[in-house]
Amino acid sequence: MQNVLLAKYGEIALRGKNRHLIENALLKTISKNLEKIGNYSVSKEQGRVLIESKDEIFDYDKVIPLVVNILGITAVCPAIKLNDSSIENIREKALLHMKEHWTDKNYSFKVETKRSDKQYPMDSREISTDIGGYIFNNMDNITVDVRNPDITLMVEIRNYVYVYSKLIKGFGGLPIGTSGKATVLLSGGIDSPVAAFMMAKRGVSIEAVYFHSPPYTSDRAKQKVIDLAEQLSTFTGEIKLHIVPFTETQLKIYESVPPEKMTILLKRAMFKIAEKIAIKNNSQGLVTGDSIGQVASQTMQAIEAINSAVKDLPVFRPLCSMDKQEIIDVARKLGTFDISIRPYEDCCTIFVAKHPETKPKKTIIENIEKNIPDLDILIDKAIDNIETIIL
Ligand code: ATP
Ligand code: MG
Repeated sequence: MQNVLLAKYGEIALRGKNRHLIENALLKTISKNLEKIGNYSVSKEQGRVLIESKDEIFDYDKVIPLVVNILGITAVCPAIKLNDSSIENIREKALLHMKEHWTDKNYSFKVETKRSDKQYPMDSREISTDIGGYIFNNMDNITVDVRNPDITLMVEIRNYVYVYSKLIKGFGGLPIGTSGKATVLLSGGIDSPVAAFMMAKRGVSIEAVYFHSPPYTSDRAKQKVIDLAEQLSTFTGEIKLHIVPFTETQLKIYESVPPEKMTILLKRAMFKIAEKIAIKNNSQGLVTGDSIGQVASQTMQAIEAINSAVKDLPVFRPLCSMDKQEIIDVARKLGTFDISIRPYEDCCTIFVAKHPETKPKKTIIENIEKNIPDLDILIDKAIDNIETIIL
């Protein structure tokens, strides 16, 4: 008998898609997450993922959170795996399992059996009745209820026998890789990691772009974004992070435009650069953490004035209707919140106007932009000097 974890994923979402590639990506993400905590093997087992420990101990408390939160995983079940499929052995080990997990109060239960081994000498109903009777006779705190039980003890007879009774639900969503790719503008703030997660939840692979302005933004601010991308990757799988040297472009805009319009023009430059990087890397869209009305640059007028900088790709703003508190709640669940609130500025105060315009006019902004000397050259230079990290 061996303690294992079974992970279930949305079969339906995979139908007709690149099933093989997506399943492999899922296995790779699980393996990568578990590498950090021990010696685990991850394999495919008839439409499930089977996680086994190569050492004596299976540390469920550590393993479960690193698996159940991966997008595309619908649920995980701590299970026992039996080599000996005789009914006597299943009975006895099922009872042990029940005693280990369910003795703290009175429970009702039923047994449900799935049998893909059709050679097995008993049918599913006979197996369920046999094991159910055995457990009922050997535990004091248990009653049988086949309609609405507190506990459903699952017995699955496959290449091996699996027995489990707890199902821990995942985030749901579609498996990563089923819906193309998007490039998120990832700052060190609270919002953009949440926005990236929301897209990923619909099966979209994530790449990220971060605009770094040394010495105005510190190495620690850059590290914060790398840590955010790494934390996000535990849900989304591998993330390619492009770090764009933005200082020259930012200084040029700072020198060339009225202070109240600076934020809008900086955001437009970010969008132009992000779009080029996204297209080069076969992304089908950009993503930002904008939430309408949260700050001056996120009014409807400001969004309109910024958005026209993007020529070809759709821009997704999955947080547009969320309140700050709702966003924070998700960030906490993702474990990005504590990273985001580290106190390193994502932008030096000289680049933040005291009174930014809240209702900029798109045409005026576009005209000012045309007169910024060498803007296109600086943008191309920034793109040529990107540093790319894979997390
Ligand atoms: P966040 O919490 O995501 O930083 P915010 O509320 O601070 O958002 P802004 O600073 O106005 O809002 O940024 C709006 C969006 O622009 C961000 O969500 C992010 O997508 C993008 N963005 C801002 N600064 C950067 C940056 N330095 N690098 C990459 N993207 C950025
Ligand atoms: Mg920010």
